Amino acid sequence: MAHYVYDFDETPDGGRELLGGKGIGLAEMTQLGVPVPAGFTITTDACRAYMEKGDFPEGLAEEVDEHLARLEETAGKRFGDPDDPLLVSVRSGAAISMPGMMDTILNVGLNDQSTEGLARRTGNERFAKDSYRRLIQMYGETVDGIDAHFFSDALAHQEDDLPGLIETFKRIYQEQTGRPFPQDAKEQLGRAVRAVFDSWNTPRAKRYRRHNDIPDDLGTAVNVVQMVFGNKGEQSGTGVAFTRDPSTGEPGLFGEFLADAQGEDVVAGIRTPEPLAAMKGRLPDAFAEFVETVQRLEAHYRDMQDIEFTVEDGKLFLLQTRSAKRTAAAALKAAVDMVDEGLISREEAVARIDPGQLDQLLHPRIDPDSTYDVAAKGLNASPGAASGAVVFDADTAEQRGKEGESVILVRWETTPDDIHGMIAAEGILTAHGGMTSHAAVVARGMGKPCVAGCEALSLDMDAKTMSLNGTTLKEGETLTIDGGTGEVIAGEVKLIPPDINEDFETVLGWADDLRRLVVRTNADTPEDAAKAREFGAEGIGLCRTEHMFMADDRLPVVREMIMASSEDERRSALDRLLPHQQSDFEGIFEAMAGLPVTIRLLDPPLHEFLPPPEEATDARMRARIRALHESNPMLGTRGCRLGLMFPEIYEMQVRAIIRAAIAVRDRTGDPPLVEIMHPLVGFEEELRRLRELTIETADEEGDAEYLVGTMIELPRACIRADEIAEHADFFSFGTNDLTQTALGFSRDDAEGKFLTHYLQDGVLERNPFETLDQSGVGDLMAIAVERGRSTKPDIKLGICGEHGGEPASVAFCHTLGLDYVSCSPYRVPLARLAAAQAALSEAGVEAVAVGG
Ligand code: PEP
Ligand code: MG
Repeated sequence: MAHYVYDFDETPDGGRELLGGKGIGLAEMTQLGVPVPAGFTITTDACRAYMEKGDFPEGLAEEVDEHLARLEETAGKRFGDPDDPLLVSVRSGAAISMPGMMDTILNVGLNDQSTEGLARRTGNERFAKDSYRRLIQMYGETVDGIDAHFFSDALAHQEDDLPGLIETFKRIYQEQTGRPFPQDAKEQLGRAVRAVFDSWNTPRAKRYRRHNDIPDDLGTAVNVVQMVFGNKGEQSGTGVAFTRDPSTGEPGLFGEFLADAQGEDVVAGIRTPEPLAAMKGRLPDAFAEFVETVQRLEAHYRDMQDIEFTVEDGKLFLLQTRSAKRTAAAALKAAVDMVDEGLISREEAVARIDPGQLDQLLHPRIDPDSTYDVAAKGLNASPGAASGAVVFDADTAEQRGKEGESVILVRWETTPDDIHGMIAAEGILTAHGGMTSHAAVVARGMGKPCVAGCEALSLDMDAKTMSLNGTTLKEGETLTIDGGTGEVIAGEVKLIPPDINEDFETVLGWADDLRRLVVRTNADTPEDAAKAREFGAEGIGLCRTEHMFMADDRLPVVREMIMASSEDERRSALDRLLPHQQSDFEGIFEAMAGLPVTIRLLDPPLHEFLPPPEEATDARMRARIRALHESNPMLGTRGCRLGLMFPEIYEMQVRAIIRAAIAVRDRTGDPPLVEIMHPLVGFEEELRRLRELTIETADEEGDAEYLVGTMIELPRACIRADEIAEHADFFSFGTNDLTQTALGFSRDDAEGKFLTHYLQDGVLERNPFETLDQSGVGDLMAIAVERGRSTKPDIKLGICGEHGGEPASVAFCHTLGLDYVSCSPYRVPLARLAAAQAALSEAGVEAVAVGG
């Protein structure tokens, strides 16, 4: 029979996936001899079985009873005992951390009678009553779905009258559910466990998983843990600590402590805690033990830990330890330091950085040369700066964000229900809560700027205004926040791109030593090329020449070329374009000196260069625009089809490339490594003819070294890659078009329309234009690689679609055995890291993205 429940001192196979992050941490801490309250974990298997059946699976209730009996024995107290009750917390804990997304219920086991018993036993009536009212409140909200405001309103009015408050809470419970608050401890426990299972499928949890690519079928474990109390008075307290600063990575304990309180008060940002140092003064012995214990935990896990703890009457208990979420800057610093400290190897350091998170370091900052007035200051909860329109609720943030507006979400404090607004916002500002409040933790994970706990901020939700030390802003007015300094500024401030620090260079340097894939960039201008080189690009994998045709001084000539009614007329316009193209190429070759540059000949349909018919200046132009109209231009006269219909266009481009290469060689003594690439080839004969055209034209210009190759963007090209390879020195997978043509999804029409629906409805898990559809498009690529190499074993292979900068797709390209990936300049660092992680994974060192 299935086994669903394990005590913390048992070690089942299945680890984190079975016990969840919290459960495995409690089990490991117990086994390390760290002071942890006793308890047991109900596995994710049980949750999955529950979700399938809609009820507890067979045997689960009995197993819980058995483990509860054992817990009673260990604790020396009975569950539901009116004199000296055992109380437990019921905590969610999935395999992948989803902070604040699921439910926890504390003080389960209290009722009218046992509250009196607890008061007598502890000699602390206030504590016992406060614990009971917390149970009714949390249980009511979580298990029975009672709206939180009923309780919080009553709390605000009756805070000092605990007996009265309990009566009020019980009345609210009865009114809202039609039943009295359950007095039976086992009933409480059973329903609490169900509620935690159910919380896996709340809309906010689902939304969080979608945003973070967490599969929906993992389920959560449930931890039933003997309660320890931080709210027993001056010798008690609770806190959260990191073994290094999660914002900067600086070594040393970093955290917050709240005397005489329960853990939920800190996490929910209900009371603003003190720095951890406050604990040292109040509870020196517990503090010393804590410091020693967390150092041991960091050494054991060989990673920065995020720890929740409680001190009950001077005795320390750790409630949770996990790899700390951290900013990208902190992840890099901690990784470099840990290598220096001999705690981890360079390989592990590289494997631990989440490539997606590097983006954060590339976020804008406030220009240090700009002057501005700081209206208020809060906590620097998550770095980066953002400017945008003020919005006061998550729905408005989502709506205005979708319309393309930059918004700053301003809240008293955030809750997990605000998650969609946080996703849509550029930055988050809260009046309340500390560095470990919901807003701070979630924003750091998302890499969004956040200023939390800004005490000078007041909000008038009815008038939709905010005020910062006397400066008032209405919804829609512009606000700037700097999550690195905590500054809040009314109005817009100039932002600049960030610079890259030494830790970044160090870790990426290690990555470069480990990776096999070359990382190139997609760049159309010398500026982009130079930026990409700063980020470590090793060449250009795609230079889209059409962008050069769009410039103001060229478009009229391009239009003339398209309007031309004879080849002669067309050639005359092309002759005038040639010097422009040549100087563009010279700039790019110089910026990429010594590195390969792939230049793609003209690809888009010609009508893209023409104005809409109603803007035509004369009848001839109007007629030409009409003639060029196509119903499906993406599948129409574009790519190499253009080059075959109007060879003089490609001739001009080849001439400009070769002339530029010779000029740069003569000027710098460094011949550029030129690769001329033909787009949208599907048939061998297309490339045979175009290769001939390329070579004949180039030969006329002198002797320059160059390769001729093709993009692979059509399923037919993949399938007939052996034939096409006869005429190609290289293949570059254009996975944007290949995705479009393999899936039959229009690139222009899918996103924002049916594809959005597909993603929301779960028909597809990922957007195939973002993450390569490995089983479909990926299979076509594998066919192309195999067949291309069967003709030409050393054919150069790369990718230049958007997927070339997406970590999972980069890993796939590594596995396929491509030679390089090419992506936009800002994604080059990410691709370098992802390529190293792919090589490490092949060698058995799996990436563990602990950031974010
Ligand atoms: C591609 O199709 O993947 C590609 C890189 O070309 P473009 O996006 O310019 O069509
Ligand atoms: Mg393409």
